[in-house]
Amino acid sequence: MSQPIVIIGSGLAGYAVARELRRLTTDKAVVMVTADHGGFYSKPMLSNALSTGKTPESIINGDAEKMAAQLNITIYSHTRVEAVDTSNQSVELSNGERLSYSALVMAIGADQVRLPLQGSGVSKILTINDVDDYKHFRDVLVDKKRVAIIGAGLIGCEFANDLSATGYQVDVIDISPQPLGRLLPPEAGAYLQQKLEAVGVNFHFNMTVESVDQTDTMMQLRLTNGEKIETEIVLSSVGLTPRINLAKKAGLLVNRGIVVNQLLQTSDKNIFALGDCAEVEGKVLPFVMPITHAARALAATLAGKPTPVVYPAMPVLVKTPACPTVVAPPESGHAGEWRVESNGEGVKAVFQNNSGSLLGFALLGQATAMKNELATKLPPILN
Ligand code: FAD
Repeated sequence: MSQPIVIIGSGLAGYAVARELRRLTTDKAVVMVTADHGGFYSKPMLSNALSTGKTPESIINGDAEKMAAQLNITIYSHTRVEAVDTSNQSVELSNGERLSYSALVMAIGADQVRLPLQGSGVSKILTINDVDDYKHFRDVLVDKKRVAIIGAGLIGCEFANDLSATGYQVDVIDISPQPLGRLLPPEAGAYLQQKLEAVGVNFHFNMTVESVDQTDTMMQLRLTNGEKIETEIVLSSVGLTPRINLAKKAGLLVNRGIVVNQLLQTSDKNIFALGDCAEVEGKVLPFVMPITHAARALAATLAGKPTPVVYPAMPVLVKTPACPTVVAPPESGHAGEWRVESNGEGVKAVFQNNSGSLLGFALLGQATAMKNELATKLPPILN
């Protein structure tokens, strides 16, 4: 009997591959090995769960047992893959077992970046990158009123909106001069800032946190300008770094992420990677839409029909109900300039090159209605 396809990770990427594969074939044995509980859930729901009335438990759509039955796969939950032996095509598990594979899929995600901060409260700084982190956050949130968020990127802004909309006092600190500093031109950033301030978010821009100290019941952040912020919980949301160590240890090519070609194939022809851990043709795109496209292509490849992934333009919806926002940032390094139109109802910002071709956009407020029309004019991200 041939060896199974082994998928490492039960996040959106791992499950998307398993599901797409099952659409194509019921013949191949599939084993999923995951360090966590193995339940299926949509991670983006975490950053607006308070205002949508969701609990961490209600976000999980199916536990490992249900998912294994539904997809006709075997799932090892709470089990880590410790090492990959590429010459024998096997993985070593934290429970001491060894599993052989015909093909191995790494869908192992990314880690939250931790800033090197000083102070007695540093070990209490929270990050949220999965439902278990979120459950802990919700437990800590009980009876608290004040949260400081380090980082005004996509996830920081979403949590800020969710928390302030549900009655928390929220401070957000960021080194850049505006929210979503890497995604929005200044006028659009100012608009988003104003809308989030209107629901109570307190921004501290052009500033970094120097230290976080724990006092009796409070946490105190000291900023570079000497300002002090008293809060009860500190949430850090300053970016992600793909998990590359397992691949690196196995001798696979890694860079920012696990390096794969358009077939999602690593430097070993039997090992593939997708999702937040992968660097596909030089692109690290930690979002849901790239996973959907990659999983479909990879499943076809694993089912016997080599299929390169193609990425169309993939605008990202920012879940800040105080200011509906859609971003399709231009690829870094592309020459061009932002043209911004705004009125009290929204902002339309388009990034064009010098021949007038659209390379990116940011739409806020009522301008988000133009998303589909503009998305069709964007070049594909990978074809
Ligand atoms: P993960 O979900 O991180 O899964 C990795 C899996 O690998 C886990 O099961 C883990 O246990 C397992 N694992 C890791 N190492 C090992 C090992 N050695 N052995 C066994 N198992 C291992 N994207 C959008 O497009 N739109 C949004 O609105 C949006 N909102 C978001 C909100 C939040 C709060 C967050 C955190 C992210 C959001 N994202 C959003 C990003 C999106 O959720 C991620 O891109 C996506 O969920 C990543 O899925 P993944 O399967 O690649 O990684």
